[in-house]
Amino acid sequence: MTKFIFVTGGVVSSLGKGIAAASLASVLEARGLKVTMTKMDPYINVDPGTMSPFEHGEVFVTEDGAETDLDLGYYERFLRRSKMSKANNFTSGRIYQTVLAKERRGDYLGKTVQVVPHITDEIQNRILASGEGYDVAMIEIGGTVGDIESLPFMEAVRQLLVKLGRENAMLMHLTLLPYINSAKELKTKPTQHSVKELLSIGIQPDILVCRTEHDVDEDTRRKIAMFTNVPERAVAVCKDARSIYEIPRTFYEQNVDDLVCERFGFELPEADLSDWDKVIDGLFNAQGEIVVAMVGKYVELPDAYKSVNEALLHAGIANKVKVKIHYIDAEKLESDDGLMDELKLCHAVLVPGGFGERGTQGKMMAIRHARENGVPYLGICLGMQLAVIEFAKNVLKLDANSTEFDRKTPNPIIGLITEWFDEKGDLQVRTLESDLGGTMRLGAQEANLVAGSKLAHIYGATTISERHRHRYEMNGRYIEALENAGMKISGYSAKQHLVETIELNDHPFFVAVQYHPEFTSSPRGGHPLFNAFIGAATLQKA
Ligand code: GLN
Repeated sequence: MTKFIFVTGGVVSSLGKGIAAASLASVLEARGLKVTMTKMDPYINVDPGTMSPFEHGEVFVTEDGAETDLDLGYYERFLRRSKMSKANNFTSGRIYQTVLAKERRGDYLGKTVQVVPHITDEIQNRILASGEGYDVAMIEIGGTVGDIESLPFMEAVRQLLVKLGRENAMLMHLTLLPYINSAKELKTKPTQHSVKELLSIGIQPDILVCRTEHDVDEDTRRKIAMFTNVPERAVAVCKDARSIYEIPRTFYEQNVDDLVCERFGFELPEADLSDWDKVIDGLFNAQGEIVVAMVGKYVELPDAYKSVNEALLHAGIANKVKVKIHYIDAEKLESDDGLMDELKLCHAVLVPGGFGERGTQGKMMAIRHARENGVPYLGICLGMQLAVIEFAKNVLKLDANSTEFDRKTPNPIIGLITEWFDEKGDLQVRTLESDLGGTMRLGAQEANLVAGSKLAHIYGATTISERHRHRYEMNGRYIEALENAGMKISGYSAKQHLVETIELNDHPFFVAVQYHPEFTSSPRGGHPLFNAFIGAATLQKA
């Protein structure tokens, strides 16, 4: 039977619940358990797919094409043996959508439909379903204890703790120990209050994880245990770390995994965390530094590019160099020569995915710089589309664009797959019946790489599978012209023969892909494409 660990947070948000949960999950995995993780988000959006990165950071795309919370990215980066799916992230909006659909169908047989039991039952069903087939399922509840919005989730969890019993379910609560500088003291009161808040809805935490900037002495730990009814050894301290990849060891050293195994009756060998130690060694004992210019729209909010940032760090570990990301605001680059000079000092250029026209000129300026000066370039999704447009404009001298930015462009080199040209050459658009959230190429799809291409060499394979999240595609009618001018189309989707990858023949490393390789990069190994990109930059710099 699957064992459940629920994870809540108190005092303030942004304590790193997802990272803490994923770290513990990783230690449990290292003991031989099959672990999965789920995030429940209390907001009303049906999924984060339509939310701006400013609102919610990056949208993480799962293998099966779900647009999910960025915490799922952490889950996959910390776990080796499990991939996340649609089942691993749901919101209040999704729960209500399901319950309302059932109500309209008459499934409730005329009963009054209520938060308790109908909403809370639906939540419980989803929690149980997400754990099927695993030894342990960690369930993270978004938001902070005491939020009005998370109450139905808390109630569902309370009921499950009762139904499943102590030997099958437990709860880990994260809190903050603020440090008051004038008193030179860590304060435990907010922690006590947040546990009280949990108790008032009938939940006693089993493990406390105290986030702090300072060391915690034994007296403070004892005091916390005493006032929260949590055994002293179950009060774990999680001090700000140099890297999130140190947290698995933090949990291991405080025997948090032992608490879990004892409680659930698992008799297992000790965890071997040597692979995490190698990650830390690679991060902090690297030789030299590669500065990557990341030219994007949401540069003030690095969470918007979370997986790309992480993938670059991973590639640094794999190449034994430190990778520094220099964020450049694409829109400002259009008119700021100083920024252009900063860009020129970087060892490599990356243009990540994006939507909408703002900043695209600046991105193309950066791409042109990389193309003309032999600077390693990696384009992702929009970063590939713009590389194609830039090449068409400046090399083929075509007045070309994406129909996303100019509906009437004479050369729609990027367009919707739902668009086509009739016999008279007029642009036709197929109407889409689904809503905005449903019109994208989403999730993992197979692609074939052209034998002998740089891409095939990088992957060491000619069949790959990568995740997608986009509406627009390269227009096949321009392939010949591009190839004649030195841009090679080196990968096509297996199903529809859509362009997946491009590369420049006469350039040390100019590669762009229609998919999102960042979602599958792991700290323990990196990703072939990012590894090759940083590798090329390192070679170039030497
Ligand atoms: N806006 C482009 C499209 O929809 C690119 C999307 C992306 O970069 N994820 O195709």
